[in-house]
Amino acid sequence: MVRRLALSLTFIALAAAVTARAETSFTADAATAQPPAASPAPTPVRYWPVVTGLAQALEISNDHTSRPLRRFNAPRPAVHADNPTRRHVGVDLFAAPGDTVIAVDDGRVLGFYPFLRAATGEMSYALLVDHGAYVANYGEVRQNSLTAHGLAIGDRISAGQPIATISDTAQLHFETYQAGTQHSSSWPNGAPQPAGVRDPTAFLTALAEQGARRMPGDTTTVQATSLAR
Ligand SMILES: [Zn+2]
Repeated sequence: MVRRLALSLTFIALAAAVTARAETSFTADAATAQPPAASPAPTPVRYWPVVTGLAQALEISNDHTSRPLRRFNAPRPAVHADNPTRRHVGVDLFAAPGDTVIAVDDGRVLGFYPFLRAATGEMSYALLVDHGAYVANYGEVRQNSLTAHGLAIGDRISAGQPIATISDTAQLHFETYQAGTQHSSSWPNGAPQPAGVRDPTAFLTALAEQGARRMPGDTTTVQATSLAR
């Protein structure tokens, strides 16, 4: 068994040597050699959208958690005149004011507009990103989010790239929509789920379990990749 393994290793070494020679001849005679096989495309990595040190960072509220008001389709009372009675279109992710929001996937900045007033009086904003197969609303971010991150409407962004800052609401209100959506939706009480709205709970659960997570102080540069559409 050991001898067979040794033989196998010898064979692999020989094959590598042959490959190395072939590459050398390719370099020397590029006009007649076959082009090298393209390297496999890297597996896309999705990122958890909040960079925070909070212990509850990956908690996703649903019907079974102790914080049901943070879940999708939770009832919302009227708190302010500009905040009518409605259903919750997103899931609230734990964060602290000032925490950085990063892009889940490669995408393009689609929209940025006033969204919800925080209890402190700050008007938080919605940041709509076209992710190709879906549209995400990174909701309740600061008004200066785009300028603070050198972004403008129409800019391409990469998965894991900083795109916004958490507002005084101390959470990221995360919504997902079908591809092609141009604006976030509100959901009046008693009305059916608005067309285009997608429950992000399963998406976020998969992200928490399988996605990459950046931590505060992580200054890794995220390489730009192309949006697949
Ligand atoms: Zn919310």
